[in-house]
Amino acid sequence: MNKANNPKLKSWVEVKPGSDFPIQNIPFGIFKTKDLSPRAGTAIGNYILDLSIITNAGLLNTIAFDKKVLEEKTLNNFIALGKPITNAVRERIAELLSTENTELQNNTELKNQALIKQSDAEMLLPIRIPNYTDFYSSREHATNVGSMFRDPKNALLPNWLHLPVGYHGRASSIVVSGTPIHRPKGQTKADDADKPTFGPTRLLDFELEMAFVINKETALGSSVTTAQAEDHIFGLLLFNDWSARDIQKWEYVPLGPFLAKNFGSTVSPWIVTLEALEPFKTDSPEQDPEVLPYLQFTGKKNYDIRLEVDIIAPAGAAKTISNSNFKYMYWNMCQQLAHHTANGCNIQVGDLYASGTISGPTPDSYGSMLEITWQGKNPIQMPDGTERKFIQDNDTVVMRAHAEKDGVRIGFGECTGKILPAL
Ligand code: MN
Repeated sequence: MNKANNPKLKSWVEVKPGSDFPIQNIPFGIFKTKDLSPRAGTAIGNYILDLSIITNAGLLNTIAFDKKVLEEKTLNNFIALGKPITNAVRERIAELLSTENTELQNNTELKNQALIKQSDAEMLLPIRIPNYTDFYSSREHATNVGSMFRDPKNALLPNWLHLPVGYHGRASSIVVSGTPIHRPKGQTKADDADKPTFGPTRLLDFELEMAFVINKETALGSSVTTAQAEDHIFGLLLFNDWSARDIQKWEYVPLGPFLAKNFGSTVSPWIVTLEALEPFKTDSPEQDPEVLPYLQFTGKKNYDIRLEVDIIAPAGAAKTISNSNFKYMYWNMCQQLAHHTANGCNIQVGDLYASGTISGPTPDSYGSMLEITWQGKNPIQMPDGTERKFIQDNDTVVMRAHAEKDGVRIGFGECTGKILPAL
């Protein structure tokens, strides 16, 4: 186990119970303030530790790497240094923040400069994203959608249990939590209409997903095995794959999602490392029929991460509408990456691979409005007396995620987006 994962470790920075950011987390993100240019930081309690300040003070000198990477406006060059370096940095930060270490704790001037209240900072998109792929790896979600759009008796298409279905998404429209999204316009066709029409989507939805970030590229022509996959994964983010269901329904045959998905996706600002999540590994669902050899794996490859979705109505009434878990994924990240590269497709540092909507077995654990309201047939009652079939203008969708075990809670912060009226 990494030293930083030790449940007994305590920080001299106050970490309130229920915080997403104890000393065992040490996620990486990019922030700025009104005085500070974009730079790398980690979250501890309600604070950000400015990594450019501690590195310039010489506190990371025990690790040999180009310290300038922590002063850049994305983490790409930092995470490209590879796990031996980035894990050592995470371990060293945990050491500096622990009660037993005095190097930063007793340096009042440096400490005051390096610790910034999260409420005084703006989080930015932490990576430049060369490529984005979205999978479709929750069996419950695929079954629900197949039941609604096709046939409940044959909800899963013949390929689904044999390969992790995915499509190439759009990287340019991925935004950081807090960025508003305008209701997209597009072409739709009602079932009883002869012709399609163009206008704002009526069926705007979220998709509750997790996404992983690549830290090690491959050459065109080479493949990553399930056993090698974790070496290529820096960490995870929460991911909201906003979706326009009426546009999707009309456009998706035969090549899959296009404009129903590429108008915006929202990520949480902190990348939680695979190493911080190591204690939360759990068994994967049994795969039957047996998968082909290149998709087989050994060991625990799923993660027990609790997921929550809230809707906040325009006047502030909030309701939790879903509690799901990342452990439900039928296809795990190692299988996804092995499949993605099986044909020699190369991967790049900063690439984002999203899980697909993560639905659990019960309606209160479904990961989209489409499923929760079953195409609008069972509207959600909001505390302000209004109801929701899909997302309305000026609604805010908030996603949260955390793993918890042995008194340690590793959280992701919020993945939040407000829907503004169509332009
Ligand atoms: Mn999706």
